[in-house]
Amino acid sequence: MANLFPVRLGIESGLNSDLAVRVVERVKAGNPKVEIVGDYKKGVTKLVQLPPTPKKSIEKETWIANKRSMVLRNKQKDHKGTNLRFIHVFISVEKAREGYQYALKPELECPYYCEFCYLQATLKENPVPTIFANFQDEGVLVREIKIGLLGMHMYTQVHGIQSNIKRHGKKRLHQLLRVLEKSIPEATLEEAIHEIFTKYKSEIKRNLEDWSLEHFQSIIAHFDKFDFKDIKRKFHFNNGDLNDGMANDHLTDNLKFLVGIFGNEVMKKDGGQLLIRTKSENIENLEDLDPNGNVIYSVTPGTSYFSKGVPNYKARLKAAATLLKRGYLIRVNIDPILKYPDTVKQYKPILEEIREVMDTNAPNFERITLGMLRFSDSNIEKIVRKRHPDLYQHYKNNMVDKYEDEEKSRYERQFRVDTYKALKDYAEEIMPGVTVRLSTEAVSVWKDMGLTWE
Ligand code: SF4
Repeated sequence: MANLFPVRLGIESGLNSDLAVRVVERVKAGNPKVEIVGDYKKGVTKLVQLPPTPKKSIEKETWIANKRSMVLRNKQKDHKGTNLRFIHVFISVEKAREGYQYALKPELECPYYCEFCYLQATLKENPVPTIFANFQDEGVLVREIKIGLLGMHMYTQVHGIQSNIKRHGKKRLHQLLRVLEKSIPEATLEEAIHEIFTKYKSEIKRNLEDWSLEHFQSIIAHFDKFDFKDIKRKFHFNNGDLNDGMANDHLTDNLKFLVGIFGNEVMKKDGGQLLIRTKSENIENLEDLDPNGNVIYSVTPGTSYFSKGVPNYKARLKAAATLLKRGYLIRVNIDPILKYPDTVKQYKPILEEIREVMDTNAPNFERITLGMLRFSDSNIEKIVRKRHPDLYQHYKNNMVDKYEDEEKSRYERQFRVDTYKALKDYAEEIMPGVTVRLSTEAVSVWKDMGLTWE
């Protein structure tokens, strides 16, 4: 499938980074007719002006027009939260099992058209695919990752790990990151986090004490027991939570930049691991790099219903198979599974294709994960209802109110468990030795499946 180029590009004034220049040049080369909107101002400039459109179609047409546009701007510090620019703690809602990790923000939004996409609600204030022109600025991201790792190791060495970090954990960790951000003015790729901690120990302790938050007391009490030298725990930096991790890589080269950071041996020993989540097959930049066993490529194959513009699942799996041979850690994430009259039959061919194209017994093939369609109230009632009537009808016909331990609407619990079991059994039958797990499902569903989340 050909790479995508926007039809209109809004550019913030004053951008001069190599990344900004590269994106503009490549967009113009890929689509010489692109409409350039200069002096773009976030929150002020409206990129999309629809021609006269029937009222009932305005929502959807605006969504499509936004997806075909792009903004290039600098990312500012998150002054209300961490004071960092490009990372924040990822939380999963409910009692779902989800690893502790950071969302990376090289971009926002995505040029594909999945009608079920949660970004429609999460990014409703920023609906246009956006590339941050300062993402590759010298030293900025490395410092944020080191601060993020230090904070996550400190937090988990004191509080341990549960099924997910939950909202209160995110808030506490963000406050800790704010202290670290104030205390650590610089950090390089070759500096291990135990060296950084030793170098700025007195500033960190003083700033923790100055803040006088009650929950910092346990961190202060543990201060001389922190151990960052022999780290076993890995924390992911997820490039694909607020964007597709790869769909715009032909414009940015962000993945070359990121693999350069996460392929580093010190970063690996510090426990920082890159996770790329994508529905794209845009792997050209990754093929000649050395991931040093520290970059996970999570490909998401699925049926094409309610999902437009993405490469078909065979192309996506073929790209993953190529990267498996190049040493990337591979996960195949079949999510969201949609309910059909014959759901298991619809998804068996995807499992068969995995078996055809890759060696699931290779040491760097990690696992297959399964997950199902789910909606937050804000997405289904405020957005999908107006924008995608067929999908809304599917929700009405098939999905149930939330269970006590779930915050989102999902399919009926027994259907989920039965379908997961059938697909897991089939995967294990045709690919002996393969590991199958769930993605973002309630801990109780893991237990119903006979799986433990620890
Ligand atoms: S590829 Fe992912 S991020 Fe992009 S529209 Fe589809 S679900 Fe959303």
